[in-house]
Amino acid sequence: MTSLWSAHLADRRPTEPLDGDTTADVVIVGAGLTGLWTAYYLLDADAALDVLLVDAGAVGEGASTQGVGACSADLAISAERVALAFGRDAALDLRGALRDAVVEVGGALALEEVDCGFTFGGALRLARNAAQVERIGELVASAPTWGDEWHLLDPAGVGTHVSVPAVQAGAWTPDCAVLDPARLVRGLLDVLLARGVRLAEHTTALRVSPRAVLTDRGTVRAPIVLTTVEAGGPGVASGRTLAAVPAHGLATARLDAHVWAEIGLEPGVVVSEAAHLPVHARRTADDRLVLTGAGRPHELDRALAALFPAADATGALRWSGQIGVPRDGLPSVELDADTGLGGAGGFGAAGITAANLAGRTLADLACGVDSPLVHLPWVGHRSPDWPPLGGAAVSLALRAAARADAAEAAGRSSRAATAVLDRVQIG
Ligand SMILES: Cc1cc2nc3c(=O)[nH]c(=O)nc-3n(C[C@H](O)[C@H](O)[C@H](O)COP(=O)(O)OP(=O)(O)OC[C@H]3O[C@@H](n4cnc5c(N)ncnc54)[C@H](O)[C@@H]3O)c2cc1C
Repeated sequence: MTSLWSAHLADRRPTEPLDGDTTADVVIVGAGLTGLWTAYYLLDADAALDVLLVDAGAVGEGASTQGVGACSADLAISAERVALAFGRDAALDLRGALRDAVVEVGGALALEEVDCGFTFGGALRLARNAAQVERIGELVASAPTWGDEWHLLDPAGVGTHVSVPAVQAGAWTPDCAVLDPARLVRGLLDVLLARGVRLAEHTTALRVSPRAVLTDRGTVRAPIVLTTVEAGGPGVASGRTLAAVPAHGLATARLDAHVWAEIGLEPGVVVSEAAHLPVHARRTADDRLVLTGAGRPHELDRALAALFPAADATGALRWSGQIGVPRDGLPSVELDADTGLGGAGGFGAAGITAANLAGRTLADLACGVDSPLVHLPWVGHRSPDWPPLGGAAVSLALRAAARADAAEAAGRSSRAATAVLDRVQIG
C-alpha cells in the first residue's frame, strides 16, 4: 500500500527483470534499505566488486518506505535483555554501534549529497499515566549504564517540544534524526547505479542456496549470497525465525498554522508514548502529522485523538505494511564463511538505522574484515523459531499490549496483560 513518502519513487522507471542466468561476485536478495546499504559498503570496500541486487517488486515497496522516518538508536530489544543473553560488554558495544550508526547515516548522506531531509531533532518519550511515568523513570535511570543519553523532563520541559494533553513527564534523547525514507532509498539507489551496481526488479527469488539463487527469471551464481528480505520472502527467509507483524501509517492533510501553534511540535523531533504498543509521530517538512505503529490501524486514530486533539484525520492518507519480528527481539546479521550464505533481518519497527549498521557489518563479513562490527552480539545470532502457530502468538501479544496500555490509561493494573506479554514477547 502506498505510503506518504512513496510519491518520491512514483516517477522512477523500474529496472528490467533478470534476463536469464547470470553470475556476480555478490548477489543480494531484497533491495530495501538493508540490501542497499550492504551494496553501498561493499563497493566502498572494493569498487571493482560485481554486486547484483534482485527484488521481487520495485525498489521502495517494502517496509523501508513505510515508517515515520525515525533514524534512531533504538532497537526493539532492550540493552538489559541483550546483556542477560550475551553479557554487559556485548550490550554496551551494540548500544554504542547503534548510536554511532545514526551519525554514520547522516555522514554518508552528506558525503553522497543525498537530500532526504535528514535532521537531528532527537526523540521524545511521553508519560501520561502512572505506569508510563515509572517506565520513563527506569529508562532515564538505566541509560548511563549503556552509554545512552536520556534527559528527564517535567511537563513544562515537555512543553518546549510539544503540547500534549495530560502529560505527566517525558524523556528526551539526542540520538535520533528524522528523514524521508523514500528519498533516502532513491538517493542511495542512484548512487549505487552510478557506481555500477546491477539491479533486477520484479525478479522473485524462489530459493537461495550456497553460491546460487534461483529466481523466476533465471539463476544467479555468486560466491556470496545475501538475503535481506525482512518479513517477506517465503522460500528465501529462514523458516519460522521471523513473524510478519502488521504495522500501519497515517498522514494527515497539511495542517493550518493555528493547529501547529496548538501542537507546537518541532519538525525534527519524533514523539511517542512510553506505551507497550507505541505509536510514533512527527511533523513533515510540508506540515503534515505522520503517525506509525504496529497492531491495529485504529490505534493510530486513538493516538491522534489522545495526543494531538487539535489535529483531525479528515483527508488523511493511510497505509499498511509488515515488520519482521524475531521471537527474542534481537535481529540477526550473519555470513557463513564456508557456504558464503548470509543475510540480515528482524528489525521490528526500528530498522532504518539498524539497516545501515547491518549493511556495514555484512560488507565487513563478506570482505573478511575483522572489524569491531563483526563481533557485535547480533552477528551469527539465531532467534528461536516461532511455534507453528506463530501468527496466533503474535496476535495474542499485540492484543495483550493494547489491553495493558488501556488498563494503564484507566489507572488499572496491567499485570494480567503484561504477564501474557512476558510469555510471548514481540520484540
Ligand atoms: C508501518 C511501518 C513503520 C515503520 N517505522 C519505522 C521508523 O520510523 N523507524 C525505523 O527505524 N523503522 C521503522 N520501520 C521498520 C523499518 O522500516 C524496517 O525495519 C526496515 O526498513 C527493513 O528494511 P529491509 O531492507 O530489511 O526490508 P524491506 O524494506 O522490507 O526490504 C525487503 C525487500 O525484499 C524484497 N523481497 C521480499 N521477498 C523477496 C524475494 N523472494 N525475492 C526478491 N526480493 C524479495 C521486498 O520486495 C523488499 O523490497 C517501520 C516499518 C513499518 C512497516
